[in-house]
Amino acid sequence: MRQPLTRELTDLLERGRDRQLRLAVTGLSRSGKTAFLTSLVHQLRHAGLAARLDLLPAAREGRLLGARRVEQQDLGVPRFPYDRAMAALDDSPPRWPEPTRGISELRLVIRYRPRRPGWVGGDTRRLTLDLFDYPGEWLLDLPLLGHDFASWSRAQVLDRGERATLFADWRQAVAGLDPAETVEEGRLAEIAERYAEGLRAAREAGFADLQPGRFLLPGELEGAPVLQFFPLPGLERVDQARLAGLPPESLYATLARRFRHYQQHIVKPFYREHFRRFDRQIVLVDVLGALDAGPERFEDLSRALSRLMQSFDYGRRSLLSRLFAPRIERLAIAATKADHVTPEQHEPLTGLLEALLAEPLQDLRFADVPVRALSLASIRATEAREVDHQGRRQPVLRGTTLDGETTLLFPGEVPARLPDADFWTRQGFEFPAFRPLPRDGDTLPHIRLDVALDWLIGDKLT
Ligand code: GDP
Repeated sequence: MRQPLTRELTDLLERGRDRQLRLAVTGLSRSGKTAFLTSLVHQLRHAGLAARLDLLPAAREGRLLGARRVEQQDLGVPRFPYDRAMAALDDSPPRWPEPTRGISELRLVIRYRPRRPGWVGGDTRRLTLDLFDYPGEWLLDLPLLGHDFASWSRAQVLDRGERATLFADWRQAVAGLDPAETVEEGRLAEIAERYAEGLRAAREAGFADLQPGRFLLPGELEGAPVLQFFPLPGLERVDQARLAGLPPESLYATLARRFRHYQQHIVKPFYREHFRRFDRQIVLVDVLGALDAGPERFEDLSRALSRLMQSFDYGRRSLLSRLFAPRIERLAIAATKADHVTPEQHEPLTGLLEALLAEPLQDLRFADVPVRALSLASIRATEAREVDHQGRRQPVLRGTTLDGETTLLFPGEVPARLPDADFWTRQGFEFPAFRPLPRDGDTLPHIRLDVALDWLIGDKLT
């Protein structure tokens, strides 16, 4: 008869095993990935010393002994520029780190004492934490895998609202093109560049629902023909059979070929080689930035998020499951830059994030993927204060703007639900960008980064 394994034997086996976790941080541009990862690495490196991580039990109980950087496994992925980021924060005056533009990686080995040390071996253990940072824009490309070139072209609506203006140059360049004509290579590159310019202008203007994602963050693919395509307007008016019969050198066939190449050689490999292998992920969302930017941008963020979240749709029939059969153990979704609002607004901020992501959250819970929504500030730039206002105590923030002006302000109330038209006319929401606070010794001030850490890796430190 087989004996159940004793606890000590299990401990021994576990220690022999490679204890390793792959954690990915994502979010759209400027959602706060670089700040988050920099702070996370800093907090873990100073755990047990200056870092304040009271809401991470291993740290509170004095069992987290610290972390050091070691050489990463995948030498083909750029290293996350942690030292450069810290140098910016330590500058005088402090600066926000330059954001990363593609995927990057950093490996930490964390030393900790387990809650109940076994009697075999020493009483400290190691957890190897592989951290990845990649643009959320890349996830906007997943739905593109469910299209062919014609249906993708039809799905891009660029002749309405503000987008019509932002894409005006491209629309002019593409107007009157016939799918059957032969377009010279240089001309194609030029029109594609106009399209990419439109995407960049739209992003600058605060739009987020933009495709293809690599056009915005091309990295080493800058100028490659695989990024030289664009949707072809008016295809709904052309007969499918006629399109299918066009010769390979026609405009339509050329664009369709490049589109397929983009699907096969850019989008799919990212999911296969990286995304599928992440054990846990955190998605960062700049909800406050979108509130500040007004109703059209806020709606756009909402659309972009539902598209981005399709990459976490583990339903059996989802595109993701069918193509990549991924596995993820745990997911966190965080509204960043919470220090832009006064503390009593943090709860509504989490409420608003949950409302924005209501459907994907429901699907994730249904698919039994543990998920948690929270609000946090990776690196605090403001301090919470109170002032007397007409005989009442009013919470305010104190911060230094990027121009060096120290101000006290109340940025507004965060709606705990999706804002209606009334919210935008009645109240609105406004705040300036602040400089990060100067570092106090080895302490990098944050809000609830320890809660995020507990959710993402806490169970591995018990
Ligand atoms: P990324 O493009 O997702 O890597 O975004 P970054 O980490 O570069 O953040 C974009 C900008 O958001 C930064 O330059 C800061 O101005 C701001 N930011 C990021 N994190 C915080 C935070 O915790 N608090 C505040 N106040 N601002 C933040």
